[in-house]
Amino acid sequence: MRAPLIGATVIAVLVSATPAAAAPRPDTSAADRLSWSARHLGRQALPERDGWAAEGTGTTGGSAATPERTRVVHDRAELVDALGGDNAGNAADATPKLIYVDGAVDGFTGPEGTPLSCADLADPAYQLDAYLAAYDPAVWGRVAPAGPLEEARVRSVANQTRQTQINVGPNTTIVGLHGARLTGLTLMIDRASNVIVRNLTFVDARDCFPAWSPTDGDTGNWNSQYDQISVRRSEHVWVDHNTFTDGDNPDSAQPSYFGRPYQVHDGSLDVTHTASFVTASWNRFTGRDKLMLIGSSNTVGPDVGRLKVTLHHNLFDGDLQRLPRVRFGQVDVYNNLYRLGGDGFQYALGVGVQSAIYAQNNFFSLDAGVDPADLLYDWGGTTLTERGSWVRQGAGPARPVDLLAAYNAAHEPDLGADAGWTPTLRRDPVLPAALLPLLVGPLAGADRLPL
Ligand code: CA
Ligand code: CA
Repeated sequence: MRAPLIGATVIAVLVSATPAAAAPRPDTSAADRLSWSARHLGRQALPERDGWAAEGTGTTGGSAATPERTRVVHDRAELVDALGGDNAGNAADATPKLIYVDGAVDGFTGPEGTPLSCADLADPAYQLDAYLAAYDPAVWGRVAPAGPLEEARVRSVANQTRQTQINVGPNTTIVGLHGARLTGLTLMIDRASNVIVRNLTFVDARDCFPAWSPTDGDTGNWNSQYDQISVRRSEHVWVDHNTFTDGDNPDSAQPSYFGRPYQVHDGSLDVTHTASFVTASWNRFTGRDKLMLIGSSNTVGPDVGRLKVTLHHNLFDGDLQRLPRVRFGQVDVYNNLYRLGGDGFQYALGVGVQSAIYAQNNFFSLDAGVDPADLLYDWGGTTLTERGSWVRQGAGPARPVDLLAAYNAAHEPDLGADAGWTPTLRRDPVLPAALLPLLVGPLAGADRLPL
């Protein structure tokens, strides 16, 4: 990696020494002043055959953006402006647009640039203390909250959604410059096909108003509704070389209410509501809980034949569950690196209703207490293809392990061994899993691309 970085730096210096052309708008001239390598990266399309997002027409994002729609953004307002100017309507702006994020963009920023708190977004009739007093199962029973306080919470959620859910339209590329961060916001890619997201660090997409779901699980659960990236009703999405984290607001720092953790975070990259043709490559998911939900409903309906996703060369580092959890989709999971086993770890691959996971040559580095038999979890599926996995437990040696055989020896009912399809959209040769700690460990995540 050193040689390309040095080369790019030399080129960047040469380019930056060239006088910029006179431009009417400061934001587009800012794009002109980007390094050669940044401009090259922004114009890149997904390589041919690089996962499901390469199917058919492939994924070009905003690579055809005109100078007018090529922007460098530094805050939430500039990001919304670059996406079309009106957050409520930007999902319909299909003009190609190329957006570079420079520095830290915080979703909790008001129109004058002032920081917003959860209290600023709350409906006047919502108070957490009152909510906890009203809907305590000991008082309210184990039924869904209803009435004025729940209605006030729902209005509060609507306030937050307008503020922190950033709606992305079709034909868009969003690329982070070195050190770029998107904090406290969701990129919502809904009815917006052909989108590329690269080199960004997503931090703490927190929900100020989690919902109490008394019948979720045996004892109820708090649920948040904000993912770091949501892909819905969209095709051809490439998510590459990003980092996903809860930052300085980890789940472990949250209180418990009604005996359950107050969950203010949801997914990192959820693909739901008939979305399909998604490639997630070289991302780093660090210390997160519900990571990647592919398919959100067991209903046998419009998701059938959709939800096709490729995951390759991603690092799952200290995450707890949904790595990914799949319903219906043909999902290719190859050459990923997993480091698992912290407090609260649940499982890696969730085999859901009619799912067809093809897991090949992944490496699992596990705490000594994690049994490889528990890396799979049966959420109502019947089968997956799994081969070439390597496992290292604690200080033990790395070794090949048949995860499916281990699972079937420990659990009932058994899962079948054939997902019923073979991936063909793979650009890179599939590497032996034993190489992944040296390759994916250092190179996955934001701030690794030559910029
Ligand atoms: Ca979600
Ligand atoms: Ca069994």
